[in-house]
Amino acid sequence: MLLGNVKKAVVRAAKDAEAMGLCKHRSGNFSALDRTTGLICLTPSGVDRRGMDESDIVVMDMMGRVVEAKEGRVPSSEYMMHIAAYETRPDVVAVAHTHSPYALVMAVMRKTIPPVMAEMMHLNLRAGHIPVTNYAKAGTKMLAESVESPLIISDAVLIANHGVLTVDDESVDEALLKAAYVEEAAMVYYRVLLIGEDVPEIPIDDI
Ligand code: 13P
Ligand code: ZN
Repeated sequence: MLLGNVKKAVVRAAKDAEAMGLCKHRSGNFSALDRTTGLICLTPSGVDRRGMDESDIVVMDMMGRVVEAKEGRVPSSEYMMHIAAYETRPDVVAVAHTHSPYALVMAVMRKTIPPVMAEMMHLNLRAGHIPVTNYAKAGTKMLAESVESPLIISDAVLIANHGVLTVDDESVDEALLKAAYVEEAAMVYYRVLLIGEDVPEIPIDDI
């Protein structure tokens, strides 16, 4: 089996994401790039994470060709988005995609999230907020293209009417942690908006 340790890390992140409530009903997908081989280890499409192990992980190259997959396993339907993230951000080695509930509220409203809490300093928000993509259908090349420009200004992106995408230059665990921060920020921002006054933001230099 190719890249056993990388696959294990991807499975762990996928299961942790479910346990953390960041994705359920088989939504979301996770990948890690092995820099030495240039190969991507990606969660399979439509597989329940409870029974998932490293043998379920699909190995692809950056052209989207399947290099290794066990029978009955096909790559995540968002494989083009994962490749687009690695191409857009050559510094990145891991991608997490979740459908967490408060972030989804913001993604549906196409509302960028301003810097409301300190953890957001880990998201590399070069424009000072978590950006939102233009709408594109799930699993399409259009969706893959829609994440490219937001990823240039942020490690975390809201995907319009769909969910969250995060990237990290160290590990898939760190990419997942960023997705958790996005959900917390979205939850806090949502509740602050309910109070209905101007939202005091953290100065841009502090994030
Ligand atoms: P996959 O199971 O194909 O990865 O799809 C889940 C998802 O979140 C699609 O956007
Ligand atoms: Zn999705």
